[in-house]
Amino acid sequence: MTAPRAARRDSAPGNDLPVVARERGQRHVFCGLAGIVWLHRKIQDAFFLVIGSRTCAHLLQSAAGVMIFAEPRFATAILQERDLAGLADCNQELDRVVGEVLDRRPDLGTLFLVGSCPSEVIKLDLAKAAERLSVVYRGRVRIIDYSASGLETTFTQGEDACLKALVPELPPLPQGERSLLVVGTLPDVVEDQFGRLFAELGISPVSFLPPRHTADFPPLGSGTSVLLAQPFLGESARACLARGARLLSAPYPFGIEGTLGWLRAAADDWGVSPAVFDAAMAPAVARAERGLAHQRAMLAGKRISFLPDSQLEIPLARFLHRECGMELVEVATPYLDRQLMMDELALLPSGVRLTEGQDLDRQLDRVRSDRPDITVCGLGLANPLEAEGLRTKWSIELVFTPVHGFDQAADLAELFARPLRRDALLRI
Ligand code: SF4
Repeated sequence: MTAPRAARRDSAPGNDLPVVARERGQRHVFCGLAGIVWLHRKIQDAFFLVIGSRTCAHLLQSAAGVMIFAEPRFATAILQERDLAGLADCNQELDRVVGEVLDRRPDLGTLFLVGSCPSEVIKLDLAKAAERLSVVYRGRVRIIDYSASGLETTFTQGEDACLKALVPELPPLPQGERSLLVVGTLPDVVEDQFGRLFAELGISPVSFLPPRHTADFPPLGSGTSVLLAQPFLGESARACLARGARLLSAPYPFGIEGTLGWLRAAADDWGVSPAVFDAAMAPAVARAERGLAHQRAMLAGKRISFLPDSQLEIPLARFLHRECGMELVEVATPYLDRQLMMDELALLPSGVRLTEGQDLDRQLDRVRSDRPDITVCGLGLANPLEAEGLRTKWSIELVFTPVHGFDQAADLAELFARPLRRDALLRI
């Protein structure tokens, strides 16, 4: 999409925080529909019904192509030309499709009606549709709407919109009780690892949003402390705050340092002593350090550029620089939410080239002139850059792969080391 060009430089609040250059121009990003791929894997009794066009259906099918053998829990109700021209009653058709889905899948706990660019263009009111259908299917299935439209978003915002839509559904936490709520989709294996670490620290009760089953919606209230597992969940965080919860400030759990800082934020909130914290963390930290050493040998001194895509760029850059010894050439992010990123910004090296937003042509010019050892970018840019002899890493892979926590720190580094290793082999 295109917007007026502008670039300006802005100092981050605080003395030592990096300067941010802002760019506005042509962007190259996936839309929020991509989030359905990892959300539907996580919420095992949810179905995602996209109300969109053939383009939406193609995007979803290609993004989720790896799961072709599983019975999918997502589909696209395709708007036809008559719908787009306002000649048909889309609501009637939507009710029919929802009825079909629910007849075929009586096991569903939640049905998401997912808005797209076409449904927004024809102003199909999915909130009203969800309300109407909720009355019809009350007691049988929960029906929730959210928008994954790609007009002004980036692909991880689909998860933010989905989780924000779940927040009003969470039951109230009884007065006087407290809880820790981890917000952000984590693979089950990672969620279990964190669950064990919280238990060792004596932090309880801990719940996760989204849950694995929608019958297990976690409670939320003024006694809830929220810890974000992903840096792109600003709207969901603000929806939790509006319900009285508190947001814990922390770096994100990527790498040893980020994971330690993230868990420490919860431990401090619960009054866990530093000695208990250190003792509980020591075995996992030692394991992670052993795993990272091998990857660090490959990554140290290598130069990396991030193009703005996933909103994971800043925490990953911090990890790759501070724990793997990589040189940050440019760190670009689609949006910079200073409140959510404060702890991460403070850990970036001074003088780092930090960019918010995108002007694609100018950014590609910079990549060509910088010629970093590796460029992290969207799928559509990777092949052209590879053809120019630049090594790339798909940013979407960083959302699909288990990369959070101590036990995944080496795997996360390996994702960046692999293209360099392959390149080294090809050069022999
Ligand atoms: S929601 Fe919009 S950007 Fe996404 S696939 Fe559909 S038409 Fe394209």
